[in-house]
This record gives sequence, structure tokens and C-alpha cells, in this order.
Amino acid sequence: MTRVRRIAIALACALAAATAVAEPYRGPLFDTHLHYNDEAQIEHPMADVLGRMHQSGVRAIVANSRPNDGTRLLAAATAQTAAAGVTVVPFIRLYRNRADYSSWFKDETIVTMVLDELARGTASGPYRGLGEFHLYDSANANGPVAAKLMRLAQEKNLAVLAHVDDAAIDLLMAHAPKARLIWAHTGIGGAPGARVRELMLRYPTLMGELSYRPGLTDGSGHLSADWKALFAEFPTRFMLGSDTWINARWQQYESLMQEARFWLGDLPPATAQRIAWRNAGELFGVPEPK
Ligand SMILES: [Zn+2]
Repeated sequence: MTRVRRIAIALACALAAATAVAEPYRGPLFDTHLHYNDEAQIEHPMADVLGRMHQSGVRAIVANSRPNDGTRLLAAATAQTAAAGVTVVPFIRLYRNRADYSSWFKDETIVTMVLDELARGTASGPYRGLGEFHLYDSANANGPVAAKLMRLAQEKNLAVLAHVDDAAIDLLMAHAPKARLIWAHTGIGGAPGARVRELMLRYPTLMGELSYRPGLTDGSGHLSADWKALFAEFPTRFMLGSDTWINARWQQYESLMQEARFWLGDLPPATAQRIAWRNAGELFGVPEPK
């Protein structure tokens, strides 16, 4: 082979590598941040939401709702969820109504409600976690009910889905250093990658859920360099979520899942599969669907 030809082949290969379009991830998805709130049940009955999951290749969900009736509905619809191929992992929401969002951490009746729900369980088995809850002021992570529920979660091996800032992660973990805390949105305020890394290193049981995460993708929907680096360092610690907190999110459900499949395609297949399914599958003991 002549030198010119060798150079031409090398250039062609480099060009092909640079322009290669990653294939979207095609495997099963585990939606670890799903709400089926009372207002959603009117506009989006069971067949509608399960149809959207089925259409999107979502094969398991963390279900939580305000109040907890929506979760119980999903957990009780065993024939419908089985037909849609969806496993329901029920969580206890701390909210009976919207007013509870901003006072639950100091309201002892919330502890009673959680204990009653735990004792009651669901048609799909025992509750597996608490949340999602919000702390708009991280200092409230030191509220008596927040401390009590973190210790309860640690003792009963319940996961906790918390919509909080990075300061509150330290405060919550101080109550229960071995609790399995899922950081909703991995911080919706967009804590820098270095801070996320610091917390992941400090708390081995901390996981990050990725809905709404600022900085996760660039303008074209591909993963940012920061997040590629975080996933490479912590492939076992992140999970997907839809966060259907308002009905508009249900209307976007399929496109939200398509967006996730698109950026998952930027990762090595084993890492994509972990974030899409396996990390949550292992956390909740749900086997990968065939
Ligand atoms: Zn949420």
C-alpha cells in the first residue's frame, strides 16, 4: 500500500468516527419518579397512563401520588399493569394535599399517616419507599418529622425520594447515614458536577434521579461533558424519572422518554443500561424484563 493510500484510509476512518451518530438506547426503562396525582386520574385514566408507559418501553415505575390513593390505584390494578408489562414499586407520599408540601417536616400527623400506610401496604406488596418530599429551605431538613422519617427509612430499608438542595443532602444523611436516599433531579437547582461528585463519594447509599436536571444535556439533547464524566465515575448511582407532577408532563410522557433514550445513546451500552434500568432494578429487586 502506498503512503498516500494509507493516509487516505486513516483520514476516512477518522472522519467516520467523528460523524458516527450514536443509536438511541433501546432497552427497558425504569421510571423512578412518577406521580399519579388526583387531578391526573381525571384527565388520564389508568388505561391512558399505562398505554403511555407501554408505548415508551417503561417496564417498571416508582409510583407515588398526592394523596396516596393514586399509588394504591396503580398497585391494585394488577391485571392491567401486568398486561402493560409494568411492575409497580409503591412509595408513600407525605402529602394529603398541597398544604402539606410546606409543613410536613414539622407535622407529627404525617408520621402517623406514614405508619398507617406502611401497616396497610398495597395490593402489589409492601411500600418500598417514602417521598417524594420537598424542602424549599434546606434548614427544615432538621425538622423533627424529617429526622424521624429518615431514621424510620433506614430502619425499615425504605428508599427516600427527596427534592432538596445539596445542603439538605448533608443534613438528611446526618440523621440516618445508611439510608438509601434518592436525590430527586440530583438537585433541581443544578448543583455543580464537582459538588454532586463530592456527595456521591461521601454517601455510598446516595443515588441521583435525573428528571429536570439542569446541565445534563446540551442544546442538541446530547449529554454534556460534565455528566458523561459523572456517569463514567459513578455508573451505578443514577436513575431515570419522568416527574409527572402536573398533567402536562403526562401529555409529554412519550417524548420525555424518547429524550432520555437519545442521550443514553451517548454512553457505553453497559452504562446506559444501568441508568435506564439496572440501578433501580437492583435497588428494588425487580428483575430485568425479557
Ligand atoms: Zn416529583
